[in-house]
Amino acid sequence: MSRIEMVISDFGGVLTTPLFEAFASFQDQVGIPPKSFGLAMKAIAEKGEPNPLFELECGRITELEFQQQLAAALEPVLGHRPEIESFGMLLFEALDPNPGMIDLIREVRRDGFRTSLLTNNVKEWEATWRSMMPIDEMFETVIDSAFVGCRKPDPRIYQLTLERVGLEPDQCIFIDDMEINVDAAKELGLHGVHFRETAQARAEVHALLA
Ligand SMILES: [Mg+2]
Repeated sequence: MSRIEMVISDFGGVLTTPLFEAFASFQDQVGIPPKSFGLAMKAIAEKGEPNPLFELECGRITELEFQQQLAAALEPVLGHRPEIESFGMLLFEALDPNPGMIDLIREVRRDGFRTSLLTNNVKEWEATWRSMMPIDEMFETVIDSAFVGCRKPDPRIYQLTLERVGLEPDQCIFIDDMEINVDAAKELGLHGVHFRETAQARAEVHALLA
């Protein structure tokens, strides 16, 4: 087995406060019940249309197109067409940096390990999420789904990451708050850490690096 060289981290929900809190706050502010979102997404899937969020995260549609598709899908559920203009802005207002995980990245770098960021994200949100923490100081490489045209858990985005950093899967730890993304990484041979809370994820990473 090779020595671990790199820690690859997710962004939302790992380096930030949980995303579900941000979604809840967004839904409160626009006055749309979470159940309606679920029904709208289900209707899209039943029509055999691609998931708008996945399309947005792969950079195949713009944020404006995403908002229009979501509003159109919500219309029959709500009985009126909602205003969804500031989805990203409201989401980020409810999201804060997670100092414990940001420190972990700094600690592992200080200990001589390499670090990269692998994020499912949105082109139009790049300046906003990058302004939350010093991304370029924390990571040597950033792989953003919206710019590479595929998203976790697609194996291709992990393979692309490994190619860019020039490492084998077992030389890398991958941290994500979505288990499906961790499972896909483990399938390819990376060491997976499923983030559930900061202390647990920190302990698992330190144990793998010890
Ligand atoms: Mg996440």
